[in-house]
Amino acid sequence: MKSEGLARGTFAERGRILTRHSELHGNKIQAAVLRRRGGPLKIESLEMENPRDDEVLVRIVATGICHTDIGFIDGWEESDGPVVLGHEGAGMVERVGRSVKGVRRGDHVVLSYQSCGRCGQCRRGHPTDCEHFYDANFGFKRLDGSNALHLSGVSGHFFGQSSFSTHALATKRNLVKVPKDLPLEVLAPLGCGLQTGAGTVMNSLNVCSGASIAVFGTGAVGLAAVMAAHIVGAGPIIGVDIIPMRLKLAHELGATHAINSRNQDVAESIKAITGSGVDHVVETTGDPEMLRLAADVLNPQGISAFLTGASGPDSLPEGRRVLSVIQGDAVPQRFIPQLIALHQEGLFHYDRLVKFYAFSEINRAIADARSGETIKPVLQMSET
Ligand SMILES: [Zn+2]
Ligand SMILES: [Zn+2]
Repeated sequence: MKSEGLARGTFAERGRILTRHSELHGNKIQAAVLRRRGGPLKIESLEMENPRDDEVLVRIVATGICHTDIGFIDGWEESDGPVVLGHEGAGMVERVGRSVKGVRRGDHVVLSYQSCGRCGQCRRGHPTDCEHFYDANFGFKRLDGSNALHLSGVSGHFFGQSSFSTHALATKRNLVKVPKDLPLEVLAPLGCGLQTGAGTVMNSLNVCSGASIAVFGTGAVGLAAVMAAHIVGAGPIIGVDIIPMRLKLAHELGATHAINSRNQDVAESIKAITGSGVDHVVETTGDPEMLRLAADVLNPQGISAFLTGASGPDSLPEGRRVLSVIQGDAVPQRFIPQLIALHQEGLFHYDRLVKFYAFSEINRAIADARSGETIKPVLQMSET
């Protein structure tokens, strides 16, 4: 009897040591790693730390691919070290840090951009203006300088998530709980692109019923802006792009007019539609010619929103203004549930933009986003 008890105790003790060992050395995940400028990304097995007290471990079910990911792939320097991108993750909560309240294992979540939660802007409820926005989203580390993928010599924490991965660490500040009866793979792109486009119209520009608006670039962000403009009753809503398939979709989603800027003069076409200029422009292309036009076609008191980080001219006549907008000035925990509600009311058809790919097809999905063939690629990592 005594020896049996001892054997059991030893086994239990060994189990405990094994548990501690795995906590110390983290968990194996599969993530798409960028090691070469321009890609391709390679799916590798990496070791990730367990969630810290203020973190949540999310099993990623799906993630959107956004043009910001592609911008990083093309601008990456070897000296930056290998990184994991991805910032439109959606998944299920697997583990919850001790100090995180209101989140449970099994919750369905959409991940969005990160903010510090402590600076003046965050405390005033403006996390898109967080004083640490750059470091929290593009620093490839936590704000304390640590990196949960350091055991593999790779950097994560892109937008506080790095969701091109089977698992991601997030915090309560960039996690939004969503209803369990909605497919996570369709909800994924709400975390960045759709929030940015719709938020620019509804929050940053506060577009009113009857206001005229032109949307330059009808990719995922631009089409979200078109749908939001339609929802708030704006009109005319003018989509501008060079890809006929996208302009057709813009029409179907609420644009009253479409201009193909490859073979039509944008300023003249807008004048023919409105008799003057427009009250608002949402500029998503970053193209220097379109940036100039976005200011030129404004009516007096009109406002253009630049979404690519470009800044506008210092001064414009007759009260015209240009705003540089980040993430549609949206507080994700408030705005994403609003977008989901609009979708459920049959008003925000963002599912029309999405095409699904297996995680292993990530490089093909990126190529299709580059060519414009797919508006919003969504990678599927696992089942719900
Ligand atoms: Zn994005
Ligand atoms: Zn902050």
